Amino acid sequence: MSSENLHNQMKMKFSSDKEYPDLSKHNNHMAKVLTQAMYEKLRSKQTPSGFTLDDVIQTGVDNPGHPFIMTVGCVAGDEETYEVFKELLDPVIEDRHGGYKPSDKHKTDLNSDNLKGGDDLDPKYVLSTRVRTGRSVRGFCLPPHCSRGERRAVEELSIEALASLSGDLKGKYYALKDMTEAEQQQLIDDHFLFDKPVSPLLLSAGMGRDWPDARGIWHNDNKTFLVWVNEEDHLRVISMEKGGNMKEVFKRFCNGLTKIEELFKERKHPFMWNEHLGYVLTCPSNLGTGLRAGVHVKLPKISKNEEFEDILKKLRLQKRGTGGVDTAAEGGIFDISNADRLGFSEVELVQMVVDGVKLLVEMEKRLEKNKSFKDLIPAQK
Ligand code: ADP
Ligand code: MG
Repeated sequence: MSSENLHNQMKMKFSSDKEYPDLSKHNNHMAKVLTQAMYEKLRSKQTPSGFTLDDVIQTGVDNPGHPFIMTVGCVAGDEETYEVFKELLDPVIEDRHGGYKPSDKHKTDLNSDNLKGGDDLDPKYVLSTRVRTGRSVRGFCLPPHCSRGERRAVEELSIEALASLSGDLKGKYYALKDMTEAEQQQLIDDHFLFDKPVSPLLLSAGMGRDWPDARGIWHNDNKTFLVWVNEEDHLRVISMEKGGNMKEVFKRFCNGLTKIEELFKERKHPFMWNEHLGYVLTCPSNLGTGLRAGVHVKLPKISKNEEFEDILKKLRLQKRGTGGVDTAAEGGIFDISNADRLGFSEVELVQMVVDGVKLLVEMEKRLEKNKSFKDLIPAQK
């Protein structure tokens, strides 16, 4: 190994049972997969930028579980992490992504013309619609591991590339450090900006370091196309608007994202991607498309039904509160989005959301009329 991580070497003075974390109370994918034998085997390894096994698992060690979602409990520090630590990460990926095998190949489809329907979600129920993904810029360490210099370089490159967008996509960059507390809070409350680094998952993974240095948000004038810089991923690309026109939101997403990818390529910084994992992102749960297409939707009746969880599962959807992943639903309004990221194309995932949300709204309407919805329950998708 060319670069020697002395701190990691120092740990070798202790036997692996002296270093092995206590995972006895844990419920995350990492804790399910990691054994002491695996730890012993992998603990002396490091990626070319010096990311070690302990760095990979720290967030899952510090956070035994999450109240609303099953977390993966590990992160990548650079593009090579997934290769160097594949003995741990392959089974985690398989567990998290419905049996996705190391030999499987990922598919990409960012042609919004292939989406069927989606412009007609009932706006009486569907309050807002959003599609997001993450992208990592090749040549830089990922947010858990990047230096201040690298992070600032990613920010600078992003500002320069995004400044080339034109027409409806023309926008401006707002650095977090130049915003007042009130301006930040307003953007968070309006669902445009990422939360402050309060999530223990994020903090334990090292993603809150140097906050707010080199973090910011770029958006077009009417805030329908947004890019977060240096939060959990180098880039988070978001298309959103009020109402239920998923077709339009997805079209803008595909169009803008494709342009951004070209702009980074022109600057000799393509996005991290490979045939097996698709787009490489910080959290293994986001690999592949990195896509989460979702709506804020009013479902006060069906959500109280005992079969709600099971129906979501059958539709391959997940629920969150409307204030983000760390919030519980209030007033019967949910964030309903695709549960999968990997093994399905972008179009296929958005199609699941469109079809699934339509069905949930139909069920809600049946219940309003005190009619049974049972005949609408689908088979497992
Ligand atoms: P992610 O990390 O997948 O982007 P989070 O659950 O962390 O999503 O939420 C980030 C922000 O995006 C939150 O402010 C949340 O309210 C907002 N958001 C998510 N989905 C929608 C939606 N369909 N409409 C409006 N805002 C949304
Ligand atoms: Mg998030």
